[in-house]
Amino acid sequence: TQRPIKRALVSVFHKEGIEVLAQAFVDAGTEVVSTGSTAAKLAELGVHVTPVEQVTGFPECLDGRVKTLDPHIHAGILADMTNPAHAAKLAELGIKPFDLVVVNLYPFADTVRSGADEAATIEKIDIGGPSMVRGAAKNSATVAIVTDPADYALVAARVADGTGFTLEERRWLAAKAFAHTAAYDATINEWTAKHWPKPATVASGEGETAEDAKFPAKFTRTWDKAHTLRYGENSHQQAALYVDPLNQTGFAHAEQLGGKPMSYNNYVDADAAWRAVWDLAPSIAVAVVKHNNPCGLAIGATAAEAHRKAHACDPVSAYGGVIACNTTVTLDMANGVRPIFTEVIVAPDYEPEALELLKTKKKNLRILKVAEPPHGHEQFRQIDGGVLVQDADLINATGDDPNAWKLVSGEPADEATLKDLVFAWRAIRCVKSNAILVAHDQATVGIGMGQVNRVDSCHLAVERANTLGGEGVNRAKGAVAASDAFFPFADGAEVLINAGVKAIVQPGGSIRDEEVIEAAKKAGVTMYLTGTRHFFH
Ligand code: 5GP
Repeated sequence: TQRPIKRALVSVFHKEGIEVLAQAFVDAGTEVVSTGSTAAKLAELGVHVTPVEQVTGFPECLDGRVKTLDPHIHAGILADMTNPAHAAKLAELGIKPFDLVVVNLYPFADTVRSGADEAATIEKIDIGGPSMVRGAAKNSATVAIVTDPADYALVAARVADGTGFTLEERRWLAAKAFAHTAAYDATINEWTAKHWPKPATVASGEGETAEDAKFPAKFTRTWDKAHTLRYGENSHQQAALYVDPLNQTGFAHAEQLGGKPMSYNNYVDADAAWRAVWDLAPSIAVAVVKHNNPCGLAIGATAAEAHRKAHACDPVSAYGGVIACNTTVTLDMANGVRPIFTEVIVAPDYEPEALELLKTKKKNLRILKVAEPPHGHEQFRQIDGGVLVQDADLINATGDDPNAWKLVSGEPADEATLKDLVFAWRAIRCVKSNAILVAHDQATVGIGMGQVNRVDSCHLAVERANTLGGEGVNRAKGAVAASDAFFPFADGAEVLINAGVKAIVQPGGSIRDEEVIEAAKKAGVTMYLTGTRHFFH
């Protein structure tokens, strides 16, 4: 099955690393056919190249759109030389077969990212390249296809020693080549789907529906590997980070300024913390996250103050946490963080002295800089054998605006109380359901998260408020509370009311809303219904 490489076709956009191949071609006396600038580069490196035009008898034309799209090339790629009929036909046509095809494609994703205009972007849709790649990959019976420069050294070795590749090796290369063209087309599809939606000339009811456009029959996305992670959620799980090739901003592209490499769990927690603080923007906010849940979240006049308040919510849990800040980390804040064991800190920027202090005094602390707020892209969640897709849950629903809230019990909240209710409502979204959050003075003071019933979440929130604030301090008293979804019974609300909260915000919508409202009324507690729910599982 081994086939020596006598004739190669080389057409690469990225010329990096081509030297090693060129040297092998020269040493082995391989016949090389090549396109425009690839041919020039190979010739420069001493390879005796045949320009593609000489094989096709046709000039490259239409701004390079047609270079290799010609039967003299494609028959040479697609002829299965283990098939006598193919071999005879090729001889009859006077076409020589290729044993090796080396191609990498026009940089479509790079072009999109560079902000190129539409015409320039379209020009970077490679046509001849993928055709050659697919042809050679289909014909792995006789042709080796190389699309990954990481494989050049291997190819050079096989060319130089005169053995060529085995069938298994050619098939493995073909599989990589199909992954390459599939990812390439997926990227083009992502761009076209976004830029070329259904036009008004196609009436609604004709063609696809709006839902189809959003969730098409084939959901294509491509992810580029950023790096392998040390391990996954646990040490026996392998893991890697992939990033969106069309969008080089966002949390996955965080710039690391110091500390140990990021782990899988660090990414999960820091991403959650990052999202949480931006829900509170434009206010200055800090979140402390553990296991994907906040153990403290606060707004402050300064970053340092926000951090002090967030940390004070639950200093026990903050140990080994992830800290996110939605503004520049100041030296004052860095000094506050210094004595606390912290895994990761993420912020849009750092004062130079703050960065210096964190880097020198906390050598293991992973320091991340992220230029932009979260994108709010659609969310994917894997289930066995499938994937669920949904819009991101953003704080932009009608019920997220306090002007739309309905007062159902007690006095309208005064300004300070309303501010705390708004804070609590914006903060509750980052707490895993069932979520109950007790807040005071623009900071969480007790969080009950992830319980399988709402009463337990209420107990947890109250208990934390009253035990973690110091000896004999009752932080639930006079505070406000938020619930991510309605109270199915009055019991949960009663736990909060009995603990002394003065106001509660919740979506409402339970069949027992009346009982819940009654409990609040009896205690003279203010209650607002938002009509909007923020489950987070
Ligand atoms: P070169 O830099 O050698 O002039 O061109 C190499 C690039 O052209 C490669 O990225 C290859 O995929 C692409 N290419 C080769 N043949 C064709 C063709 O017929 N049409 C188009 N659009 N691109 C081609």
